Amino acid sequence: MLRKIIAAVLIFAMCLAFVSGCAGNGDEPQPEIIEPEPQGQVEPTEKPEETEPMPETSLPLIKNEGNNSVSYPYLVCTDNATWYISKADMELLGESEYLAGLESMLPLVEADFTDAQAVFEGYLTDPVPPVDIYTDFSAKTEVAQSGRPVGAIYRMSDRRIYLYGSWAQASFTLLHEYTHYLSMTCADLGLKSGFWAEGLADYVAHFLCENSLVRSINFGLDENGVAFFKAHGLCDEEGNIEPKKYYYGESAQMHRAENLGQQYFAVSGYTMTLRESQMQHPLMSSASYFEAATFMDYLVENYGKDTVFAHLDTRQEDFESVYGKDFETLFLEWAQYDLELCEALGIKLD
Ligand SMILES: [Zn+2]
Repeated sequence: MLRKIIAAVLIFAMCLAFVSGCAGNGDEPQPEIIEPEPQGQVEPTEKPEETEPMPETSLPLIKNEGNNSVSYPYLVCTDNATWYISKADMELLGESEYLAGLESMLPLVEADFTDAQAVFEGYLTDPVPPVDIYTDFSAKTEVAQSGRPVGAIYRMSDRRIYLYGSWAQASFTLLHEYTHYLSMTCADLGLKSGFWAEGLADYVAHFLCENSLVRSINFGLDENGVAFFKAHGLCDEEGNIEPKKYYYGESAQMHRAENLGQQYFAVSGYTMTLRESQMQHPLMSSASYFEAATFMDYLVENYGKDTVFAHLDTRQEDFESVYGKDFETLFLEWAQYDLELCEALGIKLD
């Protein structure tokens, strides 16, 4: 049952950043990332009917005067983001439901984005420009972008976040995607591999930030999920999932022989099968998101944030020159520590 719940949460959590040369050092084939022109950019410049009434909402809607105003007739501009209000999604969910969903998220978004900026203080361009966020709950670009369903993406080429699925799914993934924006566009951290890019995004979103967005939906767990996670030592007394424990536990699962043959989503962007070779001789590119984030937490604890953030371009073969130990040695030391930590914290892995 644990794997079933984990799989459900994982699917919910899937998110990608399109980074040039994203994959790490493994032998896997590289994904062919085709980035079609965004829907809005290729549309004619016709404007919505002048007589069309503005939707009734307390959101500060303004008319979009850009050339994608047919698909995105309105904008909501906040300190940290420019939201493109999707006509298709308003039709899909109903205008009032769509706008109410955004309205309830906005204060959390602003708080979380400000929180994430603080993590990167000293590394960022000043000021940080508001990020462009597009919803695509109608999934018109989703599969075209990634080849398969994902929760959200940050697309570096035009510095846009696309949110897929629903507002709940957006709440799950948005801070992770915003971390990609900060770390790959607003800072020069040398991120070239999925291991560091995805590890950093999950580490910042779930270890360093309050992440009020994901807490607002309790990681997307329903009542049964909460009961199960609570019984496994992953929730507090109130039934709120504790993100760090969740990551410790999920990472530990990757180092238990019982889970050989299980599928997981790797930082390389592939669904992979857990094999003995990865347990014994780990490759950065075959690590899970959970491992990359939790391992980064371990590195920061032992070597300091400045050292880790200054070496986010480290290749597997260069680990020893930065950390004094080769990647395999250090990663397996961490894995053993993580298993012991789970036991000490009462996290049940069965
Ligand atoms: Zn990502």
